Amino acid sequence: MSISSRVIYLDSNATTPVMPLALEAARAVMEDDYGNPSSVHSSGIQAKAVMEHARKTACDLLGSENGKLLFVSGATEGIQTAVFSTLLALRDKLAKGEKVGTDLLYGATEHKAVPESLHHWNQVLGLNFNIIAIPVDHAGRHDLAFLKAHLATAGLVCTMAANNETGIVTDLAGIEALLVDHPAYWLVDGVQALGKLPLKLSQHRIDYSLFSGHKLYAPKGIGLLYVHKDAPFTPLLAGGGQEGSLRSGTENVSGIAALGAVLEALSDGHTFRDHATLEKFRLRLLDAVKEAFPGLILNAPLAQSLPTTLNFSVPGLTSKELLDLFDAADVRVSAGSACSAAKAQPSFVLQAMDLPEWQAASAVRMSFGPAVTEDYIEEACRRIRVCGDALRKTCMVTGDIEPLPAEGVIQLSFGAACTWIVADSASKQCIVIDALPELIERIAKYVRCQTYTVAAIVGTGSHAQQDQTNQALANLLADAYTGDLSSDFSSTIASHKSACALQLSPTLTLNGITLGEKFFAQLNLVNAKNKPVFLFGDCLADDIKPSQDKSVKTNFAFCGDLFDTKNQAENKMPQNQQAMNVIQAELKSYIGEDTLLCAAHDFDKRLVTMFDHDTECCLESATVPSAKLHEFIATHPGTILVDVREPYEQQLSHFDVPEGSEVLHVPLTRLANGVERWLKQNESKTTPILFFCRTGGRSSQAVQCLRRLGYENAWHIAGGLALWQH
Ligand code: PLP
Repeated sequence: MSISSRVIYLDSNATTPVMPLALEAARAVMEDDYGNPSSVHSSGIQAKAVMEHARKTACDLLGSENGKLLFVSGATEGIQTAVFSTLLALRDKLAKGEKVGTDLLYGATEHKAVPESLHHWNQVLGLNFNIIAIPVDHAGRHDLAFLKAHLATAGLVCTMAANNETGIVTDLAGIEALLVDHPAYWLVDGVQALGKLPLKLSQHRIDYSLFSGHKLYAPKGIGLLYVHKDAPFTPLLAGGGQEGSLRSGTENVSGIAALGAVLEALSDGHTFRDHATLEKFRLRLLDAVKEAFPGLILNAPLAQSLPTTLNFSVPGLTSKELLDLFDAADVRVSAGSACSAAKAQPSFVLQAMDLPEWQAASAVRMSFGPAVTEDYIEEACRRIRVCGDALRKTCMVTGDIEPLPAEGVIQLSFGAACTWIVADSASKQCIVIDALPELIERIAKYVRCQTYTVAAIVGTGSHAQQDQTNQALANLLADAYTGDLSSDFSSTIASHKSACALQLSPTLTLNGITLGEKFFAQLNLVNAKNKPVFLFGDCLADDIKPSQDKSVKTNFAFCGDLFDTKNQAENKMPQNQQAMNVIQAELKSYIGEDTLLCAAHDFDKRLVTMFDHDTECCLESATVPSAKLHEFIATHPGTILVDVREPYEQQLSHFDVPEGSEVLHVPLTRLANGVERWLKQNESKTTPILFFCRTGGRSSQAVQCLRRLGYENAWHIAGGLALWQH
C-alpha cells in the first residue's frame, strides 16, 4: 500500500487493492499469455502453464497435498460448492439407510455466506435438516462444550479460521480435537486467515476450506476451494469440463496468475510483514484512536485476534458518525454494523458475543493488510488524531480546543424520534425541547463543552416519561441548567432574568423569555390539552411597536406530534383528521402560515414542514449526476452549493469548489435554519441551491425538504463528494 494517494485505506478485511506484482502478473496474462488453457495450441499450453504454476504455489503454501485445490470465483462459491456437496452426500447416505448425523452446525459469528448457503441448499434440496448456530463467548470463541454436546447428531460443522469483523482467531485445534474421530464433515472458512496465519490444510482433518483472492491483494473474482481427498464432491457448475470436470467454465487465468504471484510473494521475506511487526503497527493505531476518542472500548481482545484488525466502540458516538468523520479525513474504515439510520442496526457478530447493545450498534472496524508499511501506519495515526481534534472542536467530545459556537435550531434524532435544541451564541444560552433519554448524555456534554447554560428544558408531551428524562438531563447539566424544573415552563419564565411579554399578534400576548435577539414562548392551544406548542423566533425592533411588550415574529413552532398522522396511528391516538384540522386552524391563527413546524417524530425524514405543504418531491428530477456538476453550475449561474455534512466532517475535508459557485455549510441537523433563511431571502425562489454530502443520502433529504416547501430551484448531487471528487 502506498501513501501517494490521499486515501488511507483501513478496510482490508472487506477487500484490498491489487498489489503491483499481482497487477503485473495479471497484465502479462491479459497481454501475452491470453490463450484459453483448454486449447491445445501453444498459446493454450502457455496459459495452462501459468495456471498450474499458480496452483502449485498455492498447494505448497497451504499444504493441500491431501486433497484437490480448485480455482473458483471466490469464497462464496467455495462455500456453496462445499455445502451443496455435503448435503447431497448426507442425503444419499440417508437414502441408503446409513445412520448419519444431519444437523448442520455453524459458528454464530460466521460470515453470512455460510448460514445463508446452509439455508438455501437445505431448502432447494428439500432436506429439512436442522441448522444450528454454535454460540460464542464474550471473546468470540466457539462454545466447545455446546459443540461437543451436539456432535452426536451433526452432519456438517462450519467454523471460520478468523472472523472478518473482529479478527478473532478460532481455536481450530480445540474443534479438531472434538472432531477427530467423528464422521461429521468440517468446513473451515479460511478467508481472513490467508497471509496472516499459518494454515497447513493436510495436517488437519479439514474436509473443505476456501479463500478469496481480493482479501489478499489479488483481484476480485478469484478464489480457492480445497476439498480433502475423502470428502464428497459434486460440481456446482457443469459444462466444458475445466478443472478436471470439477468446476466448468473457462478459467480466470489473469486472476489466477495474480493470486499465484501474491502467494509466491508471501514467502519472499520482504513483501509482507511478520506477525510481530503487524502487532506493533496495530498497537500504534490503537494508541492513536485512544488519544482521539477518550473512553474507547475494544470489542475484541487483542491477544486473540488477527494483528491486522481493531474493532472498537466509542461511548456517545454511533458507527455512522465515526465512519462519516473518518471518511471526511479520507480514512476508510468500516462500520461493524449496518448504519443507514442514526439508530444503527447492531452487528450480529458483536450481538452473538453478547456485548452491550450500544457497543454492538456503534462498532467501528479498522483493518489493514499484511503488506502495510510503517509510513502508511504513521500517516493513518496522524489522520486519526486530526479526526479527534475535529470532534473536540465541534463538541462531539469534550476537549481543550475552543469550540465552534452553537447557533439557531438543532435537530438531534434517535431513530424516528427527535429532540430539538435552540441556541443563541451571543447570550450563550440554549433550550432543549423533547429530550430523549438516549440523547441526554450527548446533550449535556455538548452544552458543557460549549460553556452554554440551558435556560429551559421543555416537552410537547410526545415522548414517554418526559418529566423523568427532563429531570435526568437537569441532573447531568447541574449548574449549567438555569431553569426551574419544579413545575412547568411558566415557573422558568418567572425566574428567568430576561422574561418578557411577547406580542404575537394584535390579539395575543404571551409570556416568554428572550435569548439574545430571539424569543421562546409556550403556547397552550384550546383544542389540544396538555400538548403545548413552543414558539421560537425573532424579536422585532422595539421601535416597530413602542410599547413594553416585545413585538415578535415566530419562525419555528415545536409542535410535538400534533400533526403527525403516522405516530398517531401507531400510538392509536384518537386524533382524527377533523380534530387535527381544528388544531391546525387554531395554531395557524396565532403563528401564520410560513412558520416552520418542528415535530417530535420524523418517520419520513421530512426534517421540517409547514402548513399546507404536502406535495411530494420527485427526487429523480431534483438530482444532478456528479458527472454533470460543472455543466449544471455553468447553466445555473449564482448556484449556492450547500454542504449538509456535520460540522466535524466539514472541519476535515478539503475539496475543490467548482469555479463560479459559493459553498455554504449547513449541516442536516441544522437545516431548519437554512430553510428558514432561504424561504425568506429568496421570495422569488430563483437562486439555485445545490446540496451535497458524502454519498448523496443526506443531501437527498435536504432537497426534498426544500422542494416540499415550494422551493423548486433546489437540487442535490448524486453520490455526493464520494463521486464528485473522484
Ligand atoms: N468469509 C469471510 C470470513 C469473509 O470475510 C468473506 C468476505 O467478506 C467471505 C467469506 C465471502 O467472500 P467473497 O465475497 O469474496 O466470496
